[in-house]
Amino acid sequence: VFVVFEGGEGAGKSTQVNRLAETLREEGREVVVTREPGATDIGSRIRGLVLDKEHGAGPSPRAEALLYAADRAHHVATVVRPALGRGEVVISDRYVDSSLAYQGAGRTLPVQEISWLSAWATGGLKPDLVVLLDVDPTVGLTRVSSRGEGTDRLESESKAFHDRVRYAFLDLAAADPKRYLVLDAARPPEALAAAVASRLADVLGP
Ligand code: C5P
Repeated sequence: VFVVFEGGEGAGKSTQVNRLAETLREEGREVVVTREPGATDIGSRIRGLVLDKEHGAGPSPRAEALLYAADRAHHVATVVRPALGRGEVVISDRYVDSSLAYQGAGRTLPVQEISWLSAWATGGLKPDLVVLLDVDPTVGLTRVSSRGEGTDRLESESKAFHDRVRYAFLDLAAADPKRYLVLDAARPPEALAAAVASRLADVLGP
């Protein structure tokens, strides 16, 4: 079973990823926790290329889209598919929807093309469940800076950029409600974790 968490900056994805992993492990399941970009050796070098922008402005939008796709192709081939093949639960912090939202809606590349690129990179692997932690970008960015993390890169994008990303995620969820669980990330972490666990129980079945 393949579960993905998506959402904007400061949505609390990593907290919820870890809580879900803990719950499933307590039930005796084998769980692999992973993320994009940067879960593999090659991926962490790609993450450096796309996100460390001290050495310049960062890649152009199409180069950025290809770098995320390369990270994902390698991640799916070497981490996600092997774990699914062993019957494990894979929980990924970000996946294809992040590219549709950030490179598509955010950078205004054609979303259909990003979708094709992602399908090619993954060999068509789709998650069984996507948990979207929806957060107002202003709230999310405040959360990120209160964690003491640098927000220069995030603040260099406009409010409009982060809004486009947010609404792209919500549109993707609305188009495929069976595959998505949309939660208000402002709710207490315990309530969010309970909602995720309950939905996943349906996905996993008896
Ligand atoms: O989730 P995490 O904070 O690790 O993501 C790192 C950054 O990468 C995010 O701030 C997001 O802006 C960016 N990102 C992106 N496009 C993706 C995935 C992540 O711009 N496809």
